[in-house]
Formats: sequence, C-alpha cells, structure tokens
Amino acid sequence: MNLIINNLSKTYSNGVKALQNVSLDIPTGMFGLLGPNGAGKSTLMRTIATLQEADTGTVSLGNLDVLNEKHEIRKILGYLPQQFGLYPKISAEVLLNHLAVLKGITNVSERKEVVKALLHKTNLYEKRKQNLGGFSGGMKQRFGIAQALLTNPKLLIVDEPTAGLDPMERNRFYNLLSELGENTVVILSTHIVEDVKELCTNMAIINNGHVLLKGNPLDVIADIEGKVYQKTIHKNELENYKKDYTVIADKLFLGKPIINILSDNDPGHGFSAIPSGLEDVYFSQIFNNRG
Ligand code: ADP
Repeated sequence: MNLIINNLSKTYSNGVKALQNVSLDIPTGMFGLLGPNGAGKSTLMRTIATLQEADTGTVSLGNLDVLNEKHEIRKILGYLPQQFGLYPKISAEVLLNHLAVLKGITNVSERKEVVKALLHKTNLYEKRKQNLGGFSGGMKQRFGIAQALLTNPKLLIVDEPTAGLDPMERNRFYNLLSELGENTVVILSTHIVEDVKELCTNMAIINNGHVLLKGNPLDVIADIEGKVYQKTIHKNELENYKKDYTVIADKLFLGKPIINILSDNDPGHGFSAIPSGLEDVYFSQIFNNRG
C-alpha cells in the first residue's frame, strides 16, 4: 500500500510558497524526507496528517483519499509532531492509558495489554510510574512513539524526532523506528543527513517547497561517485575556492579547513578523489537550488 502524493501545493497567506507541485510515491518501510529548515517538510507532514489543508493536489493511501477521508485516515495514522505537550505531573502509564481511551480502545483488559506492550516496546516499562516531567528528551520521544503506535498505524509520520537527543538516545530511537513493521509507511522528516543514511530505504530532498531529488540513498550516492574531491586549504582561501569550484562542503578537520567539491573531471591542484556520501548528495542538491 503506497502513499501517493500528486502535485501538492500550498501557499501561506503571507505569500510563502511552502509546497510547489510536490509529487512522491512512498512505499512501505522507512522514507526519509530531508531538507533544510524552512524547506516545507512540516507543511507536507501536517498536510498528510490531515492537520492542515493544501491548496491543490491529491494524496492517497491505498484506496483512501487522504485529504478528503480524514476521519478514515485518522484511524490508521500515527503522528509524532516536532513538539508535543506532555502533562508533566502524570506518569507515562497513566497518560498512555488515557490516550488509549481517547483512541477508542474501550475494553479494559485489551487496553492494559496494549499499554503494557507499547511501554515494553519503547523501553519505558521500568519508568512507567515516573512522572513525564522528569523524562529526558529521548524518553519523551520514545513516549511520543508509544502514543503514535496506539492505533497500530498503517501510516506513521515522525517530524524531526532526533533534534536535541544525545547520541545514545538517538541510537535507541533509531533502533525503535527501524523495528517498526515493514507493512507501515513511515515518513521521517529531518535535516540530519545521518538519520536518513542510517534508517531509510527511500528518500527525497526538498528545498523551497520543491522536490529536488528522490530515490534510494545508495543509488543517489552512486550517481555522484567519482565526482567528489577533497582538499585541505587555508582559512583565507575559502572564498576564492568558492568562486572557482562547486564547493559543496567546508568543515574543519583537526582544526584545519577541508573542502569538498563536485567536479566531473579531476580538478588537479592538490585535490584528491574521495568516496561520495549522502551528505555530498544533499549539499550538492541544496547548492544547485540556492536562491
Ligand atoms: P520545515 O519543516 O522544512 O522547516 P515548514 O513547512 O515549517 O518547513 O515551513 C516552510 C515555509 O513556510 C517556511 O518559509 C516557513 O516560514 C513558512 N511557514 C510555515 N508555517 C507557516 C504559517 N503558518 N504561516 C506562514 N508561513 C509559514
């Protein structure tokens, strides 16, 4: 069951074109939606999650018309927004139980089972009596996934989930996401390239409301293989290099600036070829699309 987005557009009342003819065919499994802040990721996520309207375009999941059959979609949708409020003085178990009631799991013993299973799945069972106010960022995100899974969703939308998590919490969260069934369409929006590289079988890069590239991460990396060159330079040379080459990344390595450039041919001048990575793909797309 694929999620098919066709020519979706949205212009906010202030004139910002957040989505411009976005079309994507998203199969089950993990799909990474990558783009810088302001690219339109949240607008797309919120539209698919039936929380806001598009101006034009269609979205379907199997036979369901997502934008018009909101009630039906909500029954099979799990959504973890970028920020969500938690009642700080309630325990994880009590809140999850309460949310399960709201989701319509009215049978008491069934609800107990579901809540217990989700607390185990998200590794929060030991902490179930603890008030949510004392949870770490990673624990809060895992609680967010637990509540998103209450409906056993066919479509799970996770908006920038790893922002603010430390590396260990991020790993735990990655593991949890990658365990989710292969029968679910999981859309993960992020500006962290690493998230997509680790987790996703399909991806798209968006910027300024446009889809710049879509495909399988390994394929898009292979497409620029042999075109990425690297050189250590002096700090004051960066601007000149930017004029002469397609500089797609500049970073510090052991305190010295290193640049990655994109070139069809060997540029010489002390550059050496390096294996391409998803970051190179990402930055070259954003570079080409800069306004
Ligand atoms: P992302 O999630 O990729 O950071 P968003 O979808 O939040 O991007 O935003 C896309 C663009 O739309 C940005 O320029 C943002 O400022 C603008 N935008 C988002 N929400 C609104 C809104 N409610 N009203 C006006 N402009 C908005």
